[in-house]
Amino acid sequence: GSDRARERGMAYYKPSRDSFSADRLTIVSELRQALIDNRLALHLQPKVALASNEVVGLEALIRWPEKQDQLRPDEIVDLAEQTGLIKPLTRWVLEQTLVVRSRLLDHGWALNLSVNISPNNLREPDFPLYVQRLMSKLQKHQGTITFEVTETSMMQDPTNSLSALRLLNDTGIPISIDDFGSGYSSLSYIKQLPASEIKIDRSLISDLAARAEDRVIVQTTIDMCHSLGYRVVAEGVEDDITADLLRDMGCDMIQGYLLTPPLPFDELLGWLSQAGSERQQLG
Ligand code: C2E
Ligand code: MG
Ligand code: MG
Ligand code: MG
Repeated sequence: GSDRARERGMAYYKPSRDSFSADRLTIVSELRQALIDNRLALHLQPKVALASNEVVGLEALIRWPEKQDQLRPDEIVDLAEQTGLIKPLTRWVLEQTLVVRSRLLDHGWALNLSVNISPNNLREPDFPLYVQRLMSKLQKHQGTITFEVTETSMMQDPTNSLSALRLLNDTGIPISIDDFGSGYSSLSYIKQLPASEIKIDRSLISDLAARAEDRVIVQTTIDMCHSLGYRVVAEGVEDDITADLLRDMGCDMIQGYLLTPPLPFDELLGWLSQAGSERQQLG
């Protein structure tokens, strides 16, 4: 853990080891203040359809620029979940995502946006109403925002998570199951989810070309998900060989460093226009 972090020249903060330390109290209050002062950021990572090479959506991912050498994004989220800050954090992310969406529309891009939702959010009694109010601010042509929830997080509280997701889905929110295949969950549970999309975890994708077993698992997952009516996204695609394999397997969409890492808004605009003109040249 810490040795590896040191090798990389970073001292990652370890929330679980020093739960009551002064450091932790400091960073929690810094996070609370950063939320108030609007000093967090969203980076955006495109999702591309394999058949057409079209950009079909963007995932919003939290960043804390001042702390980028100390805290990974998943550690920010863990910290927020452990300290009650996940409620304001998720609301900040959702509100900023709407800002991103309208700025994209100003530039002529009508793209679906996805946000990651914590299981704690699904336990907030006022979350569905909050979401409904927020989405009612969207114009009709602006579509909606997809919620990504991880398979593993749902399993902490399967019954409540399921009913909360159904409520959200009934109000028109598409649901995507994130990190699928990374954890333990029963297929009978998965089939009850009101999801329209499944994202296959990076751990099954990163060695696809080298591992025949992973190809069997991924092919079977794609076929099963299609039979159940889900669209399938592969996460963490880093090379052309993997993208070609996934296309042959019938996977619908990819995300990953092959296309681009998550980008700040202005860089994303540049990437989008370049991706668009490359498509025109090919097409
Ligand atoms: P995730 O939702 O599964 O997001 C994908 C993660 O994989 C992102 O890490 C992304 O930068 C990274 N990634 C994408 N393509 C590649 C690739 O080709 N190779 C490799 N090695 N990595 C790739 P990131 O941004 O550090 O986020 C980590 C996790 O933190 C996310 O996993 C998500 O679970 C959580 N997270 C991030 N932002 C939020 C947020 O706003 N709210 C909540 N609740 N969770 C968030
Ligand atoms: Mg995600
Ligand atoms: Mg994921
Ligand atoms: Mg993940």
